[in-house]
Order: sequence, then C-alpha cells, then structure tokens
Amino acid sequence: MLNNWMVVPTCLPLVRRRCHACTSEHFRASGKFRVNANHKLLDAWLLVLCAGCGETAKLTILERTNVRSVRPELLDQLHDNDLGLTAELLQDPVVQHRNRVALDWDNAWRLDTAGSDHLDREVVDVSVRFAARIPVRPVRLIAEGCGLSRAEVERLITAGKLVSAVRLGGKFSGDFTFTLKRYS
Ligand SMILES: [Zn+2]
Repeated sequence: MLNNWMVVPTCLPLVRRRCHACTSEHFRASGKFRVNANHKLLDAWLLVLCAGCGETAKLTILERTNVRSVRPELLDQLHDNDLGLTAELLQDPVVQHRNRVALDWDNAWRLDTAGSDHLDREVVDVSVRFAARIPVRPVRLIAEGCGLSRAEVERLITAGKLVSAVRLGGKFSGDFTFTLKRYS
C-alpha cells in the first residue's frame, strides 16, 4: 500500500532581506508590481514590504528589456498584479539570485498526508511530493507525517528500518519515497 504525502504551500513565503530603515530581515510580498516603460525598454519590479516597518523595497524582474521580447501574457499579469505570478517569481532561482534574496518558508507550508491510516502496517511505503520548492528536511517530514519525534526517526534510520534511495538524514529537499519497517 503506497501512501501519498504532499508538501503544499499555505501562503507566500517571506523574503529574507535586510531592511535599511529598521533591523528587520524579512519582507513580505505586497502583491503589487511596478512597470516602467521607456521607449521600447521595460523595467519591472515586484514590490515587497518590510515585515517590521512597512518600508517598500523592489525586486527586479525585468531590467531594460526590449518590450518585444516579453511575452504578452507576462505583461498582462504584471499590469494585473497577478498573485500567481508573484508566487512563481518569488520561487524563481534567477529572481532570487539577481536580487540576492532567499525565501523563508517557516509557517508557510503544511504536510498533507491525505489521511494516511495505514501507517500501523508492518511495512509502509510513502511517496512524498513537493508542490513547491520548499526546503524541508526528510527527517522533519517523516516525523510529522508518522507522528514520531525526530530522534525516533533518526533511530529508525540508523537501525535500517527506515530506508530510501535518498539520504534521509541529510538536507535533501525534493520528491522522494521511503519505506518504514517499524516492526520487523
Ligand atoms: Zn523595516
């Protein structure tokens, strides 16, 4: 019996970035974009607000980009302040790298175990999938999904009762499957 778990976002992650006006290191998406057209060249920013003082900062999305090379759908989404686009761009490694920011997913995700009720079987196979690029360690997910402490999960891994093709004790974050042989 294969159990399917899914790690899903519950809200937008915070943006890690130092505020120049206060001591906060977190910004939240404002849900707004700013687009500036200069002749045929476009600049576009995603506006974020300091979680401490509300100061606005801009994350560069387009920089002096020829309007002809921009997909019309993207332009529409920018002008409509499309929330889906905000979520997509925040998670875009290119955007993160260009703006030297990282995301903070604390309290912004949940593990959906689809009411797994076969976890008491002798051997349990679980497939874990990520609906977004959310950095959570396998040990933490398994502990939460199986109702165990992280120390118990570590012990099961050491005892060879929790096995996977990925290194469960590491930082790996992405789709994986594991087998729990709790009672063998
Ligand atoms: Zn601030």
